[in-house]
Amino acid sequence: MQKFNTFLAFDIGGTKIAYALVDAKGNLLAEQVRIPTPKDNQVLFDTLKNVVQKFESQIDGIAIATAGEVNKDNTHIIASVGNMPKGYMNTDFTALSDKPVYVENDANAAMWGEYLLGAAKGTENAMLVAIGTGVGLAFIVNGKILKGKSGAGGEAHFSVNREKKRHCSCGLWDCYEIYASGTALGLDAQEVYGRDDVSSHDVIKGLKEKNPLAEKAYHIWESDVVRGIAGLANIFDPEIVVLFGSLTAFMDFDKLQDEVNQQIVTMPLKLKHAQLDNNAALVGTTLAAAEKFNKDA
Ligand SMILES: [Zn+2]
Repeated sequence: MQKFNTFLAFDIGGTKIAYALVDAKGNLLAEQVRIPTPKDNQVLFDTLKNVVQKFESQIDGIAIATAGEVNKDNTHIIASVGNMPKGYMNTDFTALSDKPVYVENDANAAMWGEYLLGAAKGTENAMLVAIGTGVGLAFIVNGKILKGKSGAGGEAHFSVNREKKRHCSCGLWDCYEIYASGTALGLDAQEVYGRDDVSSHDVIKGLKEKNPLAEKAYHIWESDVVRGIAGLANIFDPEIVVLFGSLTAFMDFDKLQDEVNQQIVTMPLKLKHAQLDNNAALVGTTLAAAEKFNKDA
């Protein structure tokens, strides 16, 4: 009989926080609740704490998926992302509850969920590309999440362009993230339209209306997305690439898969949409937390 069966899981991002009760097998016990992410870090912490207090008597532990790079022992953030409130990176998640708290990077958590129960189930090597405001990457290598020396492995900050054209949120120039994110699609649109009042939303709207400028901006963006995936696939040789995030909803996956496979030097891969969708990170962090805590118990 395992000791840790029910978790309160959080998925904390720059624009929204999702939470749900999740069991140790990865089943959501009720639909996820979404709230906007407070702009002030103390308000954010108090918000989390209020949710914890509401569910504390029903749970055995807390499982968090968060923006930012998380340490190897899954207890805290070691480097933060630009779109979280100031001070977030120093959050003491253990202060939320007397119950044990597990913390994982959101892309890693989503990858782990997809690996155990979703699109990457049955593979040993997989890659997740989460396209949102930024780009999150995660890798399963020989059945394990790639953590690197510090836990922060798999960040989309490598140069894909030597033009010194776009300044990335990390401080470097021309990272993959600033060519393949939702932010990047907006920048491509501004260049193509020749105006700075257009965004990724205008491109998505324009695609539905067959607007040639929207199609051109999308094509530029998509080829950058593909270029990065192909380069990473050459390094990691995954069986499957799982695409994740709201911007992937309107992408043609068969076409993308063909384009990636034309550019790689390794064997052909599959490219699929995340199956657990918005619950992937909640499920993944809970499965990882349950495994860790029940092993230690
Ligand atoms: Zn960067």
